[in-house]
Amino acid sequence: MKATPRRDTSTELRLRALLHSRGLRYRVDYPVFGRRRADIVFTRVKLAVFVDGCFWHCCPDHGEVPAHNAEWWRAKLERTRARDVETTEALLSDGWTVMRVWEHEPPVAAATRVAIEAARLLSTR
Ligand SMILES: [Zn+2]
Repeated sequence: MKATPRRDTSTELRLRALLHSRGLRYRVDYPVFGRRRADIVFTRVKLAVFVDGCFWHCCPDHGEVPAHNAEWWRAKLERTRARDVETTEALLSDGWTVMRVWEHEPPVAAATRVAIEAARLLSTR
């Protein structure tokens, strides 16, 4: 299957449902840095969660540069990666906590990770 940019991937939907069922409330697809948006955002504690697709964000396990037009893809994927780094750094320097979840990550494990961090941040306020 050819990877295309998607919103509301199954991992993200599952993660959101799990967080919601734990009583957590958050914004979805919310602008955090200029026009860049995070997938799940806890605005009050400045926690931004990105669910990164394995293809577009060059997952070390599944991120593979397509053989056809490899150079073009390499450059494109590299720009995506550079933008991720830039976004993360901008948010960190603005006092945000940034979490990145891989599309391939089991949603329950990811939800636990995010819920723990959200609870920790909420408790320090
Ligand atoms: Zn992956």
